[in-house]
Amino acid sequence: MLKILFRLVVCLSMFFSFAGCKPNSSSEIKNQTQVFKSATLQNSVQAKDVVIHVMNVGKADSILIQIGGKNYLIDTGLQENNKALVKHLRELGVDKFAMIFMTHPHKDHIGGMPALLNSFKIEQIYDTELINPDSKLYPKIMKLIAEKHITKTKIQAPMKVMLAKGAYLEVLWPGEQKITVPNDSNLNPNSLVMRLVYKDFTMMFAADSYKQSEEQIIKRYSPAQLRSNVLKVGHHGSNSSTGDDWLKVLEPQVAIASYGIKKGEPADKYPSKKTLERIKTHNIKFYGTFIDGDVTIATDGKAYSIEVEKK
Ligand SMILES: [Zn+2]
Repeated sequence: MLKILFRLVVCLSMFFSFAGCKPNSSSEIKNQTQVFKSATLQNSVQAKDVVIHVMNVGKADSILIQIGGKNYLIDTGLQENNKALVKHLRELGVDKFAMIFMTHPHKDHIGGMPALLNSFKIEQIYDTELINPDSKLYPKIMKLIAEKHITKTKIQAPMKVMLAKGAYLEVLWPGEQKITVPNDSNLNPNSLVMRLVYKDFTMMFAADSYKQSEEQIIKRYSPAQLRSNVLKVGHHGSNSSTGDDWLKVLEPQVAIASYGIKKGEPADKYPSKKTLERIKTHNIKFYGTFIDGDVTIATDGKAYSIEVEKK
C-alpha cells in the first residue's frame, strides 16, 4: 500500500513538473507544461537554417522543407503538374529526399509520387495508410515503393519525427481513432497534421484537415504544444477548416493557403471568404500560392522571414 502511495506521489509530482509517468497518452500530453518562446517575423534572418517552400502547385499541396542539406517533402501535388514539380525541385537544389510525407491519398496530394519515385532517391516515406477505394494511383504508388525497396512507415499521432539540426515534426493527427464527417469521406478529416519545431520557430501543417479535426487536436494537446508562428491552413483555405478556436489557440502571425482556381470554378471556394474573414479578424497576415506564387519561409530559430515569388 505504502509503495502504491509513494508511486502515486512520484507520478503526481512528475505530472505537475514536466510530464506524466508514462508519456504519450493523450491526456498526459495535454497536461505537459512548456515555456513557449516565439520567433519574431522580420524582413531578413541571420542564417537560413530551415527553409520552407510552400510551392505553387495549383489546387493541391506540396511543401518542401530544407534543413542542413536535407530535403523533406510534405505532399506532392497533382499528377498533371509532375514535370513542372520535378523541374522546380531540381532548381531548388533537391537531388534526393530524406523523407516524403503522404498526408492522405487524394490526387492533389499524392499525384506527384510516381514521378518523384522515378526521378529522385527517396530514403523514407511516411504514409497515413488511410484507404481511398476510388484511387487507382495509390496501389500504383505502393507497387513502385515496394519495387524500389524504400522504407515506408505508417505515421500517426502521437509521434515525433527527428529532422536535421535538432528540428523535428510533432505528429498531432490522426491518432489510432479516426473520425468521420457526415456527407464526406474519412480522408480529409483524418489527413496528417504536423507541427514543425526549430528552436523558437514553429509552423503547423494542416493538410486537408477540417474544423472537426482541429477540435479533436485542441482537446488532446495544450495550447503551448499547438501555438505556431506560421499556419499552412487546412484544405486549401476552404470554409471546412481553420475555425475560430483553431486560430485562437495557435495564435499564428502568418497563414498560408495552397490553392488554385480553375476556369469556371467559383472564385471564393478556395480560399473561402469566410476563412479569409476569420484570418483577418485574428489579425493574421495572409499569403496564398495562387496570388503570391511560392511562399518561402526562412528561419534561424529566433527570427523568421517570408518571401513571395510574385512581388
Ligand atoms: Zn487537397
